[in-house]
Amino acid sequence: MNKSYIKCSECGTVNYNNEYCSNCKALLDVVLKRKLESESKLQKKIEQQKNIKPNKVEAFLKNGLEHSNLVIRFFFKTGYAIWLFFAVLVGGIIALVTAAAAG
Ligand SMILES: [Zn+2]
Repeated sequence: MNKSYIKCSECGTVNYNNEYCSNCKALLDVVLKRKLESESKLQKKIEQQKNIKPNKVEAFLKNGLEHSNLVIRFFFKTGYAIWLFFAVLVGGIIALVTAAAAG
């Protein structure tokens, strides 16, 4: 184990071999701190994605797929395929961006 003096970035107190500041209880390990921050950001992004999920559009398109009129059914089939394509595309881009941000 490395024993070292770490100056608290929050209050300036010098701590000896501590994970948390003895004065203000702030996390001293900058690497760990950044890791925790990026993890919480990732968590927030996942939560946001869940909220954005467009259930209404999907339900609307699925209703159209069961329409009695063949032309309208065909129209909705095409729309649904395009919708799925973009959903996958956007999902992939979001996954890429999150992966890049997480490093
Ligand atoms: Zn401190």
